[in-house]
Amino acid sequence: MRRDLKSVEDLVFAGLVHAERSEVLQAVARRYAIGITATVASQINGDDPSDPIAAQYIPSDLELREMPDELTDPIGDHAHSPVPGIVHRYPDRVLLKIVGVCPVYCRFCFRREMVGPQGDGNLSGHELADAIAYIAETPEIWEVILTGGDPLILSPRRLKEVAVALSGIAHVKILRIHTRVPVVDPDRITLELIEALKASGKTIYVALHANHPREMTSDAMTALARLADAGIVLVSQSVLLKGVNDNAEILADLMRAFVAARVKPYYLHHPDLAPGTSHFRLSIAEGQAIMRSLRSQLSGLCLPSYILDLPGGHGKVALGEDNVLRQEDGTYRILDRAGTEHRYRDS
Ligand code: SF4
Repeated sequence: MRRDLKSVEDLVFAGLVHAERSEVLQAVARRYAIGITATVASQINGDDPSDPIAAQYIPSDLELREMPDELTDPIGDHAHSPVPGIVHRYPDRVLLKIVGVCPVYCRFCFRREMVGPQGDGNLSGHELADAIAYIAETPEIWEVILTGGDPLILSPRRLKEVAVALSGIAHVKILRIHTRVPVVDPDRITLELIEALKASGKTIYVALHANHPREMTSDAMTALARLADAGIVLVSQSVLLKGVNDNAEILADLMRAFVAARVKPYYLHHPDLAPGTSHFRLSIAEGQAIMRSLRSQLSGLCLPSYILDLPGGHGKVALGEDNVLRQEDGTYRILDRAGTEHRYRDS
């Protein structure tokens, strides 16, 4: 049976969790939404307790364990939000968070306190108008990044409304969409949806979030080809996750699958300090070792940048060997893009 799974009962019914785990998983579900599309459910190997697809979506009692350094807003969206729905962290670009829901709910999500039925919700018509007005009145904004939530969960009609609103803002040249839809619900990538995005009249980039080569199915490849054939530029985002892809061979396969699908590998994110996600985190030193191995086996075309969103809203930094200094006490000294030093501790 192909249907989306949205509750612990659904997971038990689908045979993806044992009934005796229901009670503890209900406690997790009360705090963090559950969402698994029929496409993703069909990819899970229920006989493998370490299945890397299951690990990304099936809730775990480990999510109830919070660490002292974890933050409800790990990358500091709220500190840079001048009006609802806008995050203006860097001068020439803004996030426009139009929707607070996703087709799937990733257990490691950095916005897990904001997305889902208990989260920030979708922008109202009035709030969207205010957000568009902020972009129109701020001439240094060159790029608008639709994120959320997953913007491609919206209907083509709603997406077209946003695209048309942006089309009248001449200083915005680039529209970027962050999404997991091509891999978790590829049938949503229709020609109607693509036409809706193109109503913006902007150069369009789609940043695909995928973390394991098994997500790059033939249906996903077809959806990505539809986007690429329409002239949309594709880049990738992946999160480095313990138990999912913390292995250079798996990541090399993923990056090659991206390039074969015309998706340029862009970011490999160090996992953020989102609450209840410590079981996914590895150390920065381990991530750097994986990157060294990737560099030894992949062409430059296939290499992503390994980056950290500094906690507290200080922006992204590349986790290179030159700007990250490991200290004897196990912490790291990291320079941000302005040359300011931050301390970071693996936790
Ligand atoms: S699709 Fe993105 S925003 Fe939604 S739960 Fe996953 S990581 Fe979070």
